[in-house]
Amino acid sequence: RILLDKFSKAFGAVSVIEDMTLEIGDGEMLALLGPSGCGKSTTLFAICGIHKVSGGRILFGDRDVTSLPPQERNVGVVFQSYALYPHMTVRENIAFPLRIAGKSSVEVARQVDEMAQLVHIEPLLDRRPAELSGGQQQRVALARALVRRPHVLLLDEPLANLDAKLRLEMRSEIRRIQLETGITAVLVTHDQVEAMSMCDRIAIMDAGRIVQIATPTEMYNDPHTAFVAGFLGNPP
Ligand code: ATP
Ligand code: MG
Repeated sequence: RILLDKFSKAFGAVSVIEDMTLEIGDGEMLALLGPSGCGKSTTLFAICGIHKVSGGRILFGDRDVTSLPPQERNVGVVFQSYALYPHMTVRENIAFPLRIAGKSSVEVARQVDEMAQLVHIEPLLDRRPAELSGGQQQRVALARALVRRPHVLLLDEPLANLDAKLRLEMRSEIRRIQLETGITAVLVTHDQVEAMSMCDRIAIMDAGRIVQIATPTEMYNDPHTAFVAGFLGNPP
């Protein structure tokens, strides 16, 4: 379970998130859905520790991680630009988080093979990122994000750079991988179809607040505000 407890974030005098409380259950995949600038990435950065919060607390289970730096939180992140290490092979990219955690070579090899199997990239392990398609690069990024068995997988617009066909394929692939590993995940997106098709629940954000949080079906059938309805393409 991940809990944001009255979390707020300001940049200088500008408040971006105010008093947000959000609980994400174990094994749940939650979408943060909302228009550009509403604070989705800011919320994700607070969970992974890239941003210091201005107020409130972040809990992983019973553990208060609010003041811990990212490397001590064990979170997996996949962003829009894959940020694979270009000079390393796929194998080395996936192994990297384990190496800096000091795992033995045997352990590293075992875990990398297991991850390659999970995301279906076994034949690509000796290639470099530039020799892969966008979808394949995203698979490698997922494997690298998951290899340390993080408490939570954070995905910020992971499909934004893919063409329409690959985007469809990777939607179901990410969901499959999330369900197979049982990992708790947060998907940031401004695409309502993506949120509806991939996630257990959706939190709709507007100007730094969550305006409604519900399952896709509930949200679609009973949008609480015109903003939510408009965003889901189901105006009242
Ligand atoms: P998008 O869909 O465009 O990625 P978002 O919902 O992820 O949008 P955020 O990146 O969380 O939006 O930004 C929320 C608000 O905070 C915006 O108004 C943005 O300008 C502001 N903001 C984000 N990062 C900073 C920063 N480092 N310094 C100042 N303001 C920032
Ligand atoms: Mg963003």
